[in-house]
Amino acid sequence: MEKVRLGRTNIAVKKLGWGSIPIQRVSEEQAVSVVQAAVEMGVDLIDTARAYTTSERRIGLALSKTSRSVILSTKSSNRTEKIYDDVQESLRQLRVKKVHIYHLHNVSKTEDYEKVMRPGGAFEGLKKAKAEGLIDHIGLTSHSLDILEKVLQEDRFEVIMTCYSFLEPDAARRILPVARAKDVGVLGMKPFSGGVIEDAGLAVRYVLSTPDIIPIPGSETVEKARENWKIYAEGRPVSEADQARIQQLRQQFDKQFCRRCDYCQPCSQGINIQLMMGIKSVIRRFGNPDEIAWVKGVAEKARDCTECGDCLPRCPYQLPIPELIKKNLEWYDSLKK
Ligand code: SF4
Ligand code: SF4
Repeated sequence: MEKVRLGRTNIAVKKLGWGSIPIQRVSEEQAVSVVQAAVEMGVDLIDTARAYTTSERRIGLALSKTSRSVILSTKSSNRTEKIYDDVQESLRQLRVKKVHIYHLHNVSKTEDYEKVMRPGGAFEGLKKAKAEGLIDHIGLTSHSLDILEKVLQEDRFEVIMTCYSFLEPDAARRILPVARAKDVGVLGMKPFSGGVIEDAGLAVRYVLSTPDIIPIPGSETVEKARENWKIYAEGRPVSEADQARIQQLRQQFDKQFCRRCDYCQPCSQGINIQLMMGIKSVIRRFGNPDEIAWVKGVAEKARDCTECGDCLPRCPYQLPIPELIKKNLEWYDSLKK
């Protein structure tokens, strides 16, 4: 299968990578078998993160059982130069001497970007790790296209990661042409928009049909990993019927789907609106909320919504935020029945 070049890193990988959020929520045995199966199938880029609880360790365990080599991409949300310690922990967990790409994780707010880039910030910590040969390339992941535009303009990263799917297609217009011109590699997260898109074929064909981005769909079962790989291997383009279905789904989700831009903030009650809007996919990906304190915290805090409506005019997609929060809380409460 043809390989594509990940920008100035000069890393050549297949057009479909693999993301590891979902393997946190299954047994260790299953997680390891999924990673092994993905690698045996031919996946040659695996993405993980310090924040994905057991994910790095499980990947390390799986890779110790295969002779195949893969490009490893991981990340840390540490905003200070102490991120250097996280790099060392990632190496321990992944059982490797070096990670190919290490990202600053989820730098989606201006104050976070300022924190990571200032003296003593995480960017310096990663530069130190790179100088010592612990990592090859420095990347940055973000849910904000505004931040990614700034990052590309300042041009200090070799790789970036953006959300990209047919429900969130704006990166193709705002990010990919600039990244291409600057020779920055782009990884694409959330090809299923966090589980909102259920038709895997449609979702994967769409992201694969876009040049200059390597999507990294995750899977927690071997079957799912095989299904995604098969779609890739078939190499079918997006058909006219696919286009029609995409338009239909875009219309269906237009006034329901949160694009995680955070323009609705600040909420007068301190609610994390975007996480609460996407709570179904958060729970689908991260697992039982009773075992993950931050997920439970987001939902419990959302009960404080006074329906004041302050957030409504700030949402560029005119989403009925308090109404959707209420619906999602009802769904969340139904899980306990
Ligand atoms: S309507 Fe609810 S979510 Fe929106 S600002 Fe008011 S309290 Fe926050
Ligand atoms: S609710 Fe609207 S403004 Fe808030 S994060 Fe979602 S899409 Fe953006």
